[in-house]
Amino acid sequence: MKATGKVYLVGAGPGAPDLITLRGADVLKRADIVFHDALVHPATLALARRAAKVAVGKRCGKHSTAQRFINKRLIDAAHNYRIVVRLKGGDPLLFGRAQEEIAALRGAGIDYEIVPGITAALGAAAEAGISLTQRGRARSVAFVTPRVGEGEAPSGWAKSAAAADTAVIYMGAGQAAEIAAALIAQGVARDTPTAIVENATLPQARRFVMPLSELAGAGELGISGPAVIMLGAVFAASLAATEEPSSQSARVTA
Ligand code: SAH
Repeated sequence: MKATGKVYLVGAGPGAPDLITLRGADVLKRADIVFHDALVHPATLALARRAAKVAVGKRCGKHSTAQRFINKRLIDAAHNYRIVVRLKGGDPLLFGRAQEEIAALRGAGIDYEIVPGITAALGAAAEAGISLTQRGRARSVAFVTPRVGEGEAPSGWAKSAAAADTAVIYMGAGQAAEIAAALIAQGVARDTPTAIVENATLPQARRFVMPLSELAGAGELGISGPAVIMLGAVFAASLAATEEPSSQSARVTA
């Protein structure tokens, strides 16, 4: 039987529920069923007034639904509902396994559409008040992650991060020490200004700034929310501000 439904892969934005696009919010309002990530804000889900809501989220170390099973559920849903939404944090096409879902939908002949969202890197830059492409300091930005899927070849993330003027590292806050060591081994200077932004765009957001050499100690910051590590000369002023005699020596900005 030909599916009559359409699947929308929608970016929910980085955290704050009002950072979804108008198009994304409109699709949610019309949705019959929503499959969402664990990180999506409850107020964003509430936009989908009529829809059945199914959590298929992945959160490191916690229960996650196998990708193949999600693909199958999307296909089944397109046979049973008219408007199916796959709602992902940030932008659906960045570190979101969207390609597997797109391939499965295409393979099954199901109509789909992608609605972009604001990715975490841009939410975190806004939170920090720092331009990732500050003129005179940065002409390139790399979005990287040390995380690779099962059976996947190791990635050259550290090389890419080292080559860019500004690097934003996703899914890495739990491995800060390994990340710092890998970057330093790639020749990144130990005094490179480094920022960690946790829960960007949410009321409980926290920002920390330190030289790369101190990133290894980030385990003590008690980071439990989603966080990106960002580094490059564009964070120099933020780092300098923490080193002023008037500021208590802690390299932390709340
Ligand atoms: N598709 C998403 C990324 C999914 S990977 C996007 O475009 O943003 C999940 C990672 O995103 C987390 O491990 C964290 O590194 C980052 N992240 C998500 N929400 C965040 C937030 N509010 N603040 C900081 N980092 C966040």
